[in-house]
Amino acid sequence: MENKRKNKGEGLLLKSELFWDTASQKEQREAEKLAEEYKDFLDVARTEKQTIRRASELARKSGFVEINLDEKLPKGKTRMIFVNRGKSAIMVEIGKKGLEVGASFLIAHVDSPRMDLKVKPLYEDGGIAYLKPNYYGGIKKYHWPVTPLAMQGTVVLKNGQEIEINIGLKENDPVFVISDLLPHLDNERMDKPLGKAIDAEELNIIVGTRPVADKKVKDRVKMAVLEWLNKNYKISEEELFTADIRFVPAYKPKDVGFDRGLIASYGQDDRVCVFAALKAFLEAKNKRPSILYLVDKEEIGSIGSTGAESLFLENVVSYLTRESKVEIDVYDFYRKSKGVSADVTAAYDPDYKQAYDINNVAQLGHGVVIEKYLGHRGKSYTMEAEPFFIREIINLFNKNKVAWQTGHLGKADAGGGGSIAGYLANRNMEVVDMGVALLNMHAPCELSSKADIFSAYKGYRVFLEN
Ligand code: MN
Ligand code: MN
Repeated sequence: MENKRKNKGEGLLLKSELFWDTASQKEQREAEKLAEEYKDFLDVARTEKQTIRRASELARKSGFVEINLDEKLPKGKTRMIFVNRGKSAIMVEIGKKGLEVGASFLIAHVDSPRMDLKVKPLYEDGGIAYLKPNYYGGIKKYHWPVTPLAMQGTVVLKNGQEIEINIGLKENDPVFVISDLLPHLDNERMDKPLGKAIDAEELNIIVGTRPVADKKVKDRVKMAVLEWLNKNYKISEEELFTADIRFVPAYKPKDVGFDRGLIASYGQDDRVCVFAALKAFLEAKNKRPSILYLVDKEEIGSIGSTGAESLFLENVVSYLTRESKVEIDVYDFYRKSKGVSADVTAAYDPDYKQAYDINNVAQLGHGVVIEKYLGHRGKSYTMEAEPFFIREIINLFNKNKVAWQTGHLGKADAGGGGSIAGYLANRNMEVVDMGVALLNMHAPCELSSKADIFSAYKGYRVFLEN
């Protein structure tokens, strides 16, 4: 918020205020309403593909049309969606000024930490059939045993048809569980450091306990699971190898606290920014072209055809300039563009004071967080926003009364984090990191503040409209 100049000295301080103290009644009601929409979004967007699909559905409702790079650009279209392998997407709104002036970019990632499967995952041990996962992204392994899991994913059948598996979210669905040792027998492990207490190979997902009738069959429970999968989804072990199957927490998104100020849900890194950015993008009345880039694979290094390092963005930009006969090449287009990397950061957690630098960490409810730079230790792997660009953003936010605060992950030597901002910045574009502060980041149940979700949405929108 703009510094309130109570006296001369006060005006010199950089302070942030609680959204609930400063926002109008109308905006507070809007924040509540937005939170309801957000929970509905989270509930159906638990994997990268589901997130892209839901985002595309909402965009189509706002008049966007899906464009295929192999076809000619249909005449007169100014609101477009380009989807890559169902896992990343670029949405484009040409605006009044045309592509010659560059674009305003919002980039956010659609993948979250989860359990993927090993290449040959199904086995039986002690009369229990298991799927053996390989974890995806940075997790604390002790979060995952005894957390009810849902199986979500897609499988390509022998005939090339893609089918969807979605088990564990409906009221009467079964769930899947990784077991944990009872405390009575766990003395040895209880004394181990947190990071060493659970071995990744001990994280195995229970998927069956009933055998096939034929007692001559080896691994009768595993066989029964295969028969069930084949009967219901026409798949065998070969399809389990080729599939995109994810196990994610089966909890429903819920409000937290007597005052319902927070939201608890899986996958808020980074779907909270995906949602806020999408909403801002679809509603913005922009003059410049704007692009919403939803990327996959951020949690594992952004590589691959659907990650932020991919040339998919170049595919789309060169297609657009060629098809609409715009006199600008892709590099100049980037140089004239500016971007916001919409990703989450850590909120101050009073229970773990030792990890944070209290003067520099973001706080729940104080608005969207502008992060000048991320990286770790001596600013390694840091994308740093340029002073003129940050000044421009802050001026915009102060003028439009967007609740904002500064933020930084934690103590310099405590660890660190990366960001997708660098992938746009490497393309010679002005970029700044800006997102929502979370508690429990990367846990199966992350917490966000309704005030911050609304502030992020408003901030992204103000950025696109100016
Ligand atoms: Mn993230
Ligand atoms: Mn993350």
